[in-house]
Amino acid sequence: MGLKLFNTLSRSTQEFVPLDPAGKEVGMYCCGPTVYDFAHIGNWRTFVFSDLVRRYLEFKGYTVRHVMNITDVDDKIIKGVRETKGPLHDFTGKFERAFLDDLKTLNCRTPHDTPRATQHIPEIVALIEALMERGLAYKAPDGSVYFSIEKYRGGGSTYGQLVNLNFDEMRVGERVRSDDYAKEAIADFALWKARAPEDGEVFWPSPWGEGRPGWHIECSAMSMKLLGPSFDVHLGGEDLIFPHHEDEIAQSEGAGVQPQGQRFVKYWLHGAHLLVDGKKMSKSLGNFFTLRNLLDKGFTGREIRYLLLTAHYRETFNFTLDGLQGARASLQRVDECLTKLRELAGGAKATDHASLLKEFSSALDNDLNISGAWGAVFDWVRDTNRRLAEGSMDAMAAAAALLTWNKVDSVFGVGAPPEVEVPVEINALLQAREAARMAKDFKRADAIRHELKAKGWLIEDTPKGARVKRI
Ligand SMILES: [Zn+2]
Repeated sequence: MGLKLFNTLSRSTQEFVPLDPAGKEVGMYCCGPTVYDFAHIGNWRTFVFSDLVRRYLEFKGYTVRHVMNITDVDDKIIKGVRETKGPLHDFTGKFERAFLDDLKTLNCRTPHDTPRATQHIPEIVALIEALMERGLAYKAPDGSVYFSIEKYRGGGSTYGQLVNLNFDEMRVGERVRSDDYAKEAIADFALWKARAPEDGEVFWPSPWGEGRPGWHIECSAMSMKLLGPSFDVHLGGEDLIFPHHEDEIAQSEGAGVQPQGQRFVKYWLHGAHLLVDGKKMSKSLGNFFTLRNLLDKGFTGREIRYLLLTAHYRETFNFTLDGLQGARASLQRVDECLTKLRELAGGAKATDHASLLKEFSSALDNDLNISGAWGAVFDWVRDTNRRLAEGSMDAMAAAAALLTWNKVDSVFGVGAPPEVEVPVEINALLQAREAARMAKDFKRADAIRHELKAKGWLIEDTPKGARVKRI
């Protein structure tokens, strides 16, 4: 069965067929962070979702080119620059580095390109010029340039491809300079914002005077530069559908650069919202978490990633700290099984377990049905544990199981159990306990066992000798 995905553009689940006639290469663009603060757990849900899409496409054998922009100029950034009184890139660089570190903590594959808006001003200006030439953009008296929705529609194009817009009821025709304008307005949006006194030193020259690009145009310019005027997959959070993504379509298709009969983007995928404790996350409610806040509470990147990957991407997800505890317990079950398999497998080489992979991929082929995929994996863990307990598994079977897990994990990316480093002092105690046992001094051996327990380590006696495990 082939992969099927829910396409916001058609509002239906469609078979995934890449634009590449060879059916091999896939271009994928995900709207990246605006680097004025640390990304929060709601943002991370979207980025982990886009990583899942990329990993699964790679699992299916596609060669994916993954682009994620960095928005390094916007109203909030300019406010931050004004407050910190430093250069723009000092302010954004700090948050950009933090974002890329956090991406690694969550084991997201690094995008192949992470273009910055401020490094693509010429491409942005060229795209605005193309829209001006086609009569779809106009310069306002203050030097800002706006996209004309009326002209765009007048030429037979549809504004409202991703959402149904009611032009009779919604306010039409106003101009907005702000990128985050009200969802009730169908407004001409700024492509270029004339320099204002509060922008300080953040401005660039353009044919229309000094200023800076709007947010929507940067995604159109950078995605088309790196992936071509027509590409396969565009992702983002559902809050970006309107106006951001709708405006991206209007600008990109308005420039008329796509090959005949092709759209700017073939498949639009949107991840649903994340709530925390059943409520919209907000600093005032005290339910606002950055990734770093959660790490400070002692959770790990893989636990957070696992939890974010337990719900279907189109379902609103309720994130809780209890959920993270549950994630820890679930991963422990997997880890324990894998540790036993490793011991049993030794150096044996094997082929993978085709039936689990078949079940796993038929679940994910169905619009990334992640619960179905995890269900198949946990059934397999249960079955493997039973076979291990019965002693009905040999080294070859264990090696096959490990190989299978590695394929599953190439998509889930929760990783293998971390290798626990045993401190020298603990190892010395373990050896002293072994020596006491050899000398049949069981009283001393027992005392050492208690001492290790008090220090947080449990002794496990295995056929290959004793070892310690963190409690
Ligand atoms: Zn974007």
